[in-house]
Amino acid sequence: MIRYIRPNPPSDFAAASAAALSALEAHVHTCGGTLGKEKLPFDGEFWRNHTPAFMRAQHSKCGYCEQSISNRTRDLEHYAPKAAVTRLPSDGVRAEGEGGKAVGSAPQLVCRPGYWWLAYSWDNWLVACKDCNQTWKLNLFPLEGDPDAGDPALVLHEAAPLLLHPLEEPDPEEHLQFGPGGSIQPRENSKRGCATIRTCGLDRTSLCESRMATMANASMHITLVREARKEQAPDTIGLLLAKLMDDSRPRVQFAGVTRSLVRDQLDGTSRLEMAEAATALCRLARKECVANQLAGWSGALDALRSLGMDHVPFHDVVRKVIRRHLGFDWERITSAPAPAGP
Ligand SMILES: [Zn+2]
Repeated sequence: MIRYIRPNPPSDFAAASAAALSALEAHVHTCGGTLGKEKLPFDGEFWRNHTPAFMRAQHSKCGYCEQSISNRTRDLEHYAPKAAVTRLPSDGVRAEGEGGKAVGSAPQLVCRPGYWWLAYSWDNWLVACKDCNQTWKLNLFPLEGDPDAGDPALVLHEAAPLLLHPLEEPDPEEHLQFGPGGSIQPRENSKRGCATIRTCGLDRTSLCESRMATMANASMHITLVREARKEQAPDTIGLLLAKLMDDSRPRVQFAGVTRSLVRDQLDGTSRLEMAEAATALCRLARKECVANQLAGWSGALDALRSLGMDHVPFHDVVRKVIRRHLGFDWERITSAPAPAGP
């Protein structure tokens, strides 16, 4: 799970949202605020119209598990559940059963409806895969102070949600950590990390297996960086870090795994290391450009572009080094043509 930048709502959103909500409100008041088995008349078309904006912002990835999703496998997910709120018993355990089903403790109903007044709230939306949404999270919404329940009245007054939100602070990376075999743990026993893993089933077997290739790839590059550090080879470090940062881009599936491993197994990167790596790559880029006469592109330049991306720690120092050594503004680097051929 990583953080994305929330898209902006269209200019006419506030008025349209208010109109949709007032229709819903009238219905809730008619039934006295509590529902039996009947369903609230939600406007699915309204959600469908705004889903593409969230798909773009999240690079077509599930906000919870980071799997790539398509229009067929995604939902416009309501962070605070609208139709009902359920809870898992505090000692309740769920696991992945046959066919990807959740087996074990079943969520118990707290109330119906749930946070209905957030049904058309832009800030309550994200895109999620059907597995996270419809198999695991369902109507769960654990709260601080009462981690198993989720009474909407509590949230309105004092209790903060424990579930991490991929479009909001705090950064989910501060609360989650990945380990061997694609496993996931709460970072430093984070309560929010723990609740998010449990609520969305982020430790389900199939998901751990899906994360394994990313984990193996990141581990291999991290080992090579350590060796290059011993040999004090800044250009090799630069190329390897560029690869790791490339795999940490928001659009890459399971980027959070690579980010977590870099942070934990490489002790992150230092400002000095990034400056040295960028300087070495600038030298390499000059040589390559002269040698093969590629107009504006070289492998080293491509690596520099990866190192200077927004999500990379100390990208500011990389951009400064590029300007100083190559005389290129960052905009020129990002608009350089992609490499031709294989
Ligand atoms: Zn998911």
